[in-house]
Amino acid sequence: MPETEEKLESKKKTIHRNPENSGIKAGSFHFPWRGAKSRLWTNFVLVSVSIFVVLSLMYLVARHLLFSELSQRAVGVALATASGVDLEDLDRIRTAEDIDKPEYVRVQSFLKRISDSNQDVVCLCMIRPVPTNVSGRVRYVYVADDKTKDLNGNDRFERDEVRHLPGALFNDSSHGSLNKARYHPVADTNSYFQSLRHVQISAYSPIKDARGDTVAVVSVGISSDSVRKRLAHFQISTLAVWALLSVLAFFFSGITRKRWVGYLFVSAIILVLFTFLYMVARRAIISEIRYHAMGVAIATAAGIDPEEVNGIRKAEDAGKASYFRIQAFMQRIADTNMDVRYVYIMRKSTKADAKATDYEYVVDEATFDQNGNGAIDPEEVGNPPGAYYDASSFPQLLAAWYQPAADLDVTPDPPYPDLMSGYAPIKDKHGHTVALVGVDVIAEVVGRKLLAIRTVILIVYLTLTLLTIAVLQLYFQKRALLEERDELISELEKSRERYKLLSITDELTKLYNQRHFGDQLTEETHRALRYGHPLSLLLMDIDDFKLYNDTHGHAAGDMVLEELGRVIKQELRASDSAYRYGGEEFIILLPETDAEQAVSVADRLRKDWRETALSREEIDNAGRVTLSIGIAAYNPGEDPAEFVKRADGNMYTAKRLGKDRIVFA
Ligand code: GH3
Ligand code: MG
Ligand code: MG
Repeated sequence: MPETEEKLESKKKTIHRNPENSGIKAGSFHFPWRGAKSRLWTNFVLVSVSIFVVLSLMYLVARHLLFSELSQRAVGVALATASGVDLEDLDRIRTAEDIDKPEYVRVQSFLKRISDSNQDVVCLCMIRPVPTNVSGRVRYVYVADDKTKDLNGNDRFERDEVRHLPGALFNDSSHGSLNKARYHPVADTNSYFQSLRHVQISAYSPIKDARGDTVAVVSVGISSDSVRKRLAHFQISTLAVWALLSVLAFFFSGITRKRWVGYLFVSAIILVLFTFLYMVARRAIISEIRYHAMGVAIATAAGIDPEEVNGIRKAEDAGKASYFRIQAFMQRIADTNMDVRYVYIMRKSTKADAKATDYEYVVDEATFDQNGNGAIDPEEVGNPPGAYYDASSFPQLLAAWYQPAADLDVTPDPPYPDLMSGYAPIKDKHGHTVALVGVDVIAEVVGRKLLAIRTVILIVYLTLTLLTIAVLQLYFQKRALLEERDELISELEKSRERYKLLSITDELTKLYNQRHFGDQLTEETHRALRYGHPLSLLLMDIDDFKLYNDTHGHAAGDMVLEELGRVIKQELRASDSAYRYGGEEFIILLPETDAEQAVSVADRLRKDWRETALSREEIDNAGRVTLSIGIAAYNPGEDPAEFVKRADGNMYTAKRLGKDRIVFA
């Protein structure tokens, strides 16, 4: 018994140690990190982080390239400026008084021309190094800058028109590379690293005289807007690629195909939720600008006299003073609202056969006094009063005849920014609409806000999807492990039973062995005693078996034992049990059986055996293999050993009486 128990334990251990039995079940992808679930996790995180690092490096490289391209451009502008300036002019500009000199006007207009013809130049100036008390250190003072403007148009510069007077100190605190610029052209690099806060990149180029001494430095600032925009797109795509690769890495780190589909489904559901969220946010942002456009339209409509509007009907009416007044008012509205691009007044067409969607222009903001002669000349009219306008595809405009309205969505207007149109009716004192005001507002801000929201939503969506999948994956793994454990336990249970059966079974006869007899005898005698039921016992011994062995050999003897075991087994009822008690001795326990019935069982057994032996020549051998059987019926309260001993006694009596018989005393 102890030996078997030990084997069982060791089998249990090997099952647990075997890697094939741990980790994920069959059907999953086979990857090196398949196995312990914590290792799978660690590997996934490692892969994801590596991808992130690689993509970040790529991003940094791209960013460096974009910025260095920009700084090259800035250096180019600085160089061109430095080489185009007249050294003698430069030399004569030293103090604030020098702004009256023609040299200053020449240098300044040169700077201005350059910055005007280079759209992304934010500032451009010339500065001159001046020695300081600290030897080797210089500070810089202004010579001229591009921001100075002849505001009053009198063809000379007043002091208050000059942004930085010649000789004024140049603040060099944020221009890191300036000290090198005395020797060679150079660009600042610090704005690379703070590029999200800095709006420009600065570059410098020295202006050298005939001897090669630096007499001044050109400083130029170039807007980094375009680069920052491109980088923003790059950031988003980098993030998206990272998330995608991470998801793929996750999927391939030990997930079944079936689950794949499930996860895609889950992420699609989350995507639907987030799309919904985005739509709601988009709606909110758009309605904000709708109300803004509508507000401007309402304010404009409120400031316009309906009587004057009614007086403008024909193209010639554009020349009227009332037209001029209304147009000037609309122009003021457009000028004071930075994002208002276009304002106009329309009315329902007054033609006899007009449809409800036919409109005509009344006042057009684009029609204005371009030459400033105080009146609108015919060639200055854009859309003249009475000009036809088809409003059939603008339902909100049609609705605005009754109350203020705005388009439901922004309208693309490439290559210009998107537009949002708001409308408001102009009503007379009876409450009748005489015309309506339309206002086009630039909706660029909507696009920017939406881009920000899309980015945030995309990141949150990807994160949430990954987390959800991770949690699900862990759950499935845990469930698989539990199932596997249950399977192992039931398998163990089965093999335990098999071992138990083996340990109580006799190999040769397939009957129970002697060890088991002891246990069963105790149990059956107890039961017989408790319930008062009969219990009988047959003790059987093969006659002259030694002789048989000697005559036919041990192997033939074994065959007889085996065959006898089979006959006994087939003779018994389910509740009966048979045991090989010794070498060629057998015991049969017969519960619920009295002595008389036991005798008939023994009779039947001997008869069966005789027939079997006869039918098998190799056993029969002149019918010499016979059985002697002793029978005992249990006496309630009797010691089990005594019970067996009585049956044994009867068996010996049978031997003494000449064998091949049954004895029941
Ligand atoms: P009897 O019982 O009729 O008095 O004579 P016997 O020859 O059967 O008596 P005994 O008990 O002296 O001999 C038993 C013999 O059974 C001895 C041994 O050769 C044989 N025997 C015991 N176990 C096995 C076994 O597993 N295989 C074979 N082939 N023979 C066995
Ligand atoms: Mg014997
Ligand atoms: Mg014998």
